[in-house]
Formats: sequence, structure tokens, C-alpha cells
Amino acid sequence: DGGDPSKALHGLDAEQRAAVTAPAGPVCILAGAGTGKTRAITHRIAYRVLGGQVKPQHVLAVTFTARAAGEMRDRLRALGAGGVQARTFHAAALRQLRFFAPRLLGGRELPEVMSSKGRLVGLAAARARLHPDKTLGRDLAGEIEWAKASLVEPEAYPAAAARAGREIPVSPEDMVLVYQEYERLKRAAGTIDFEDLLRSAVWAIEEHPDVAEQVRSQYRHFVVDEYQDVNPVQQRLLAAWLGGRDDLTVVGDASQTIYSFTGASADHLIGFPRRYPGAVVVRLVRDYRSTPQVVGLANQVIARARGAQAKLRLELTGQRPAGPAPTVRAFPDEPAEAAAVATRCAELVAAGVPPREIAVLFRTNAQSAAYEEALADAAVPYTVQGAARFFERPEVRQAMVAIRSASRAVEPDTPLPTAVAEALAATGWAPDSPPAGGAQRERWEALAALVRLARDHTPAPREDDGGEPTAADALLDFHGELVRRAAAQHVPTVEGVTLASLHSAKGLEWDVVFLVGLVEGNLPVTFARTDEQVEEERRLLYVGITRAREQLWLSWPEARSPGGRPRRPSRFLPTPGRGATGTTGTPARSAEPAAPRRRRTTVLSCRVCGATLTAAADRKLGRCAECPSDIDEELYERLRTWRGRVAGEQKVPAYVVFT
Ligand code: ATP
Ligand code: MG
Repeated sequence: DGGDPSKALHGLDAEQRAAVTAPAGPVCILAGAGTGKTRAITHRIAYRVLGGQVKPQHVLAVTFTARAAGEMRDRLRALGAGGVQARTFHAAALRQLRFFAPRLLGGRELPEVMSSKGRLVGLAAARARLHPDKTLGRDLAGEIEWAKASLVEPEAYPAAAARAGREIPVSPEDMVLVYQEYERLKRAAGTIDFEDLLRSAVWAIEEHPDVAEQVRSQYRHFVVDEYQDVNPVQQRLLAAWLGGRDDLTVVGDASQTIYSFTGASADHLIGFPRRYPGAVVVRLVRDYRSTPQVVGLANQVIARARGAQAKLRLELTGQRPAGPAPTVRAFPDEPAEAAAVATRCAELVAAGVPPREIAVLFRTNAQSAAYEEALADAAVPYTVQGAARFFERPEVRQAMVAIRSASRAVEPDTPLPTAVAEALAATGWAPDSPPAGGAQRERWEALAALVRLARDHTPAPREDDGGEPTAADALLDFHGELVRRAAAQHVPTVEGVTLASLHSAKGLEWDVVFLVGLVEGNLPVTFARTDEQVEEERRLLYVGITRAREQLWLSWPEARSPGGRPRRPSRFLPTPGRGATGTTGTPARSAEPAAPRRRRTTVLSCRVCGATLTAAADRKLGRCAECPSDIDEELYERLRTWRGRVAGEQKVPAYVVFT
């Protein structure tokens, strides 16, 4: 069977072809952002399926986000290799556990997967007589996540954390207590967390030979994208799936490791050729995604990286025609920055750029709200990535019901897209009058996405006689497709400017990218304390920059709110006047008129005991050295600003504020 595999070689360069046509066995692609790694593995799967070397149902491709998995499936279908499982680790684990649950759990249902640890960690900490504020709560949850993803049990935590050089937010004994208590509370609540999901999938295979046999006969060819961010439990699951076999293709970029806080490490990627001495190793250096200007800035930012990953840095060479120079702009405050970005988006859309080709990326999800508001004010449609899941939206659920019931009353030949649009119109959706902006527009766009999906949908032929499906068949078939997509979290593209965190933007690309809020405290984020953590923040900026195909706008607010405390631009931003490479224009700070600055001095003291704060307090996890209560975010931020300027334990008598 199969088709013509040469179809899968179109649009690839020689190195990519080498990866695509490599025989069954270990293959590793080490390459920088935008060099076509994801394209190469997608085409490798298609090449082998079309050539009849592998059956689509025997392939398991793992990617990092549901969106990337969806894009890979779409691409495979377009290449004629539909039916391949492309999923996130979690989705793959969940699917397998659901399948085997009746056998493994003696008929019990799979416990519910918690979306966040926050609440239970808070309770666990309280039981351990700790009273965490938001910062400590997050740090405790982060440590538990790291430990579980690193397969470290509570009792083993202190030694493992010390070995890994973790900065433990409380005493090791307290940490063990919180971790144990968290596990107990979780069991009592009958729920599991994300790491449990992966660990259970490992357990199912490692402890049950029949399950192992079935999983391994189902999946024979493995592909892992973004392999630099695979953590130990994911690595173990992969090993369990493989069961000693070696038909594994991995791709990654050490400079894009952005999950080491959860235990991920590029070591697996880098060590791959050593682990599989016969592996085909391919390196790609041509950047097909971005203009040379964007590539130049990316190279410039990552060139200053330090630490283990930095040694593996791959200089990229841009392949695309020249484009506009990236810009770095300062705005007086966050609302002004958001308004300017929204205005720029509106101009781009008016000039014909589809909103889905624009993204606004930020470090922390808290930054999203200002942009949602500003884009709504500017009547620009937007969609928040990873927010309320598409298929959980009430209007989408309602639409699915409407589509199903419309199949009972539809006319011959009504074409599917028309039939779907009519079904949605019955729920009040007005195809020709999209609301100007805001939440109503988001809802409207979600339904418009369903109609677009219907336009691309090819109904399956009728089962009985293989004849043309009727409109009713087509509607039912489309409903089935939506149900399958919901189960696979395969969200259709919703028209709108994407608002996303830098983490969730990984692997994706847009024509125009805004990287916003680039101040100290956001990037690096306040809780990045160790050198390694700061380096990870630098890589996040690298990931952000390399998402842009054409235009890249970097910006930062000089204060959070009008008249607020001054903030400093991210240390990773290129300094004015220093060009990136020969071909790259100098990213210039805007010439927005800056208010004249006066110097004022302030003494920083602990708000609880009044002690003068020391620079060392900063390194001690944001606590006052005297009492020792937590230093609130604002004080903490100010201390950080000081850190570069004062030595060691020296008292910080005053803080210089520019007003
Ligand atoms: P990232 O590290 O960000 O995940 P990547 O290495 O996976 O990037 P891809 O997403 O596969 O890169 O490719 C980047 C862009 O370049 C895509 O738009 C892709 O279609 C295009 N591309 C890849 N290879 C080629 C090629 N040989 N010729 C033309 N365009 C290509
Ligand atoms: Mg990729």
C-alpha cells in the first residue's frame, strides 16, 4: 500500500532530506530555531508512511503543546499520511491509561486530573505550620513539581535537591513534610496531578507485561519534538514505550530549553548520539522562518548566554529576504504600552494582515489582561492561548448540539458549510455581523472557526454503498469530527490576535510578534534567582524573538501604572547603538520624549520589624534577615535593583529612585 513517498521530499533541503530518508533506527536532529526541525520530522513520518515502511497507526509522535500536535496532524493529513497519533506526553499518557483503566483499576474510573497544585500545596503547607504567601506557595508547588517530574520521592528530596543545586524555599525537613502532606491530601481527595498521570502510565507498562506488550505492538515508531525539554519522568515513559527498541527520531535545540525548572534538561538531547552510537545525526543551520534582521537579533541575544547550554549554541543564518529592523520601545506605563500595541495591531489588520498572523507574547499570564482590554477597545479580535479550552466554551457546546439536531431537518443537497452556518444561525450567531470586540467577539470568532472547519471537512463516504453522503450524513460526520477533536484537544484556528505566554508559544510562528513588558522583574521574572534560572529567562527571550517571521516589536513600560514606581528595561535587551550583525539594522529605542529625571533617596526597611534591609536579604529568598518575614513584591523588586550595585552583606542604607 502507501503512495508516492517522493511527495514528502518536496520543500526540503539536503540535510532535512537526509533526516527524512534515514532508515529505521535512531535519528537525531540538533538545530536552532526556525531551521525546519518540525517540518523534517513531519515529512519523515509522511515519507515512511507513503513508502509503505510504516503504518500510520503504529507511529506515536510527541510534541509539547496541543496546538503543535494539532498542526502536525493537519500537516500529515495534507501530505497524505493521516491517522498518525501526534499528541502531547500528557494526552498520550491519558489516552493509554483510559484504555487500560478497566484492566488496571478493577473497574474503577481513572481519578480526575487536577489542573493546578496550588490549593492542595497551600493546605499541605498550613498543616506543616508554614503560612505561605503567594510567592512561597508557588515556590513550594514548583519544588513538588520538580521532585515528581524527576522521580524523587519525599524522603529522597533533601539529598536530590542538594545534588541538583535547587534553592529550597524552606528547610529541607519542612519541604519533606509539605511534599508528604500534599501527597496524602491528594490521595484523600481521590485526584491525581499531571506528574502522577505520567508516572501511572510508566507504572502501567513497567509493572504489567500484558499492557507493555499491547502498547509496544501498537506503537513501533517514535518521534519526539522539542526533545531538549523532556524531563526525567517523560524520558522514563518514552523508554517504557520503546522497551529497548530504537526506532526513535528526536529533534531539539539546547538554546530553547525553557522547562529546566521542572527538571527538563538538554542532556538527553546532547547525549543521544552517545546513547545510540549508530544514530544518524543531522544538523541544520539555515533559518527558514525569520528575516535576517530577526535572526540577527536572536543570535545577538543568545550569544551572551552562559552555562552548559551556551556551549551548544548554533549560529543561525537567515534564508529569507530582508525585512524591517526589530524595534525596542519604551512607554511611560503598562496601559500606554498595551494601547500602543493594540493600535499597531489595528493598523496592521486594516492594512490586510490577518489577525491570526499576529501574536502578543508575555512572560507571565497576569500580563494578559491589559492586552485583552486594549485589543477589545481597539476592536481587534483576539484569542487567549491556553485559556478556557475551546471545546469547553458554552457556545461551542451549544453549537455542537445544534449541529447534531440540524441533521434531522436539513434539505440535498445543502453544502456542509452552509448547513453548519444555518445550524449556528439558529443559536443566534450572525455570520455577517461580527461584534466589534471584546468577549462577544471572542465567542463569535469561536463559532466562525467551526464554519471554517466545516469548509475544509471532507465527509466520509457512506458505509453501505459508498455513495455520496447526504447533507444529513455530512452533518453527523462533522459532529463526529468535532467530538474526536474535543477528545484530542485539537482546537481549530480561531481568527484573532494570539495572546500567549512565552512558554506556550514554543514551536509556533507568526508574521508579526510583539514581545511586551520586557522589564526586570518580568524578564528575568522576579523568582528567577540563581544564575541558571536567569539563563533560562534569556533562552525564553530567544524563543520569543524566533517566533517572528517578519516584524518584531519589543517594548517595556517605564512604570506599571501612570506615575508608578520606575522599572528598568530587561537586562537582555540589546543596548542602543549596538547593531546585531552586519546585515541587521540597529534596534533603536524609541525617541518618545522622556520626562526629566530627578534623584531622590529612600531608605528601605522591613515592613514588619522595621529593620534596614540588606542586599543579602535578597539572596535569602526575599526574606528580612531580622524577623524573618517575607518581603512584599514591591520591596523585593527594589532590592533586586540594588543587587548589581552593592557588594555581599553590605547594608543597603538607601535606594536611589529616579522620579
Ligand atoms: P522551532 O525550533 O521554533 O520549533 P523548527 O526548527 O521546528 O523551529 P519549523 O517550524 O519546522 O522549524 O520551520 C520553520 C519555518 O520554516 C516553517 O514555516 C517551515 O514551513 C519553514 N521551512 C522549514 N524548512 C523549509 C525549507 N527547506 N524550505 C522552505 N521553508 C522551510
Ligand atoms: Mg519546531
